[in-house]
Amino acid sequence: MSNTVDSIASSPLLGVSSHPGWLQDATLSAKQPKAAQVDAQPPLDEYFNSLFTALGPQHWWPGNTQFEVILGAILTQNTSWKNVVLALANLRAAGVFTPASVEKAHIRRLQSLVRPSGYYRQKARALKAFVQFLRTDYRGSLKRMFATPTIELREKLLRVWGIGPETADAILLYAGKHPVFVVDAYTKRIMARHGWISGKAKYEEVRWMFERQTPGNVERFKEFHGLIVRAGKNWCRKQVAECDKCPLGRYLEEGR
Ligand code: SF4
Repeated sequence: MSNTVDSIASSPLLGVSSHPGWLQDATLSAKQPKAAQVDAQPPLDEYFNSLFTALGPQHWWPGNTQFEVILGAILTQNTSWKNVVLALANLRAAGVFTPASVEKAHIRRLQSLVRPSGYYRQKARALKAFVQFLRTDYRGSLKRMFATPTIELREKLLRVWGIGPETADAILLYAGKHPVFVVDAYTKRIMARHGWISGKAKYEEVRWMFERQTPGNVERFKEFHGLIVRAGKNWCRKQVAECDKCPLGRYLEEGR
């Protein structure tokens, strides 16, 4: 969607490469995975189990209320979580921490409060768009909104300005406990490097791959996404992959 902060902001993050260059990295095993051999792959649960055993529960996503999770999901687009924490602290201190107060706040004030998270104009606009949508479609009630069937609500969220697939799915899964998988740049990078997908795989393709293998398992989806983010930050960075230290390294060594 061209009018989303997702699409504006996260395109650099989507530069997940499957070009052979990264496979030549000295940190990688000499045994390289063949691309897109999904049938030959172990179930994704094996990846989950390896990461969970090594890293433990991630308790992701942080947030005390549903609305705080939603604020975080919108503000985290193309920025690090520590910047989101600053923006959330501003909003909390200013008392702009409910749908009604976000809608009431002047746009300039909202921009100033969320400024630490970057792309503050787009993000303030996206917050406004979300709370207006919540009021008009659900009379301001998150409970009513999340009672909507998953597919229907996902489609509606994707029509809200500034909400792209990753943000919509984070809202659905972490705030609403709907069974959708959140795909981010780390997910794409790891899956591409292990040959599950091509580097050009579309968001929906990757999401469907995870959901097909673990259908309807909300808690597993939550934890798995958190573990993937942690693995990406710890070992599977864009330029350097520390496979010798990573819990998933053995799959590469086994050629899968
Ligand atoms: S997930 Fe781990 S083992 Fe796999 S490519 Fe990245 S760093 Fe290497």
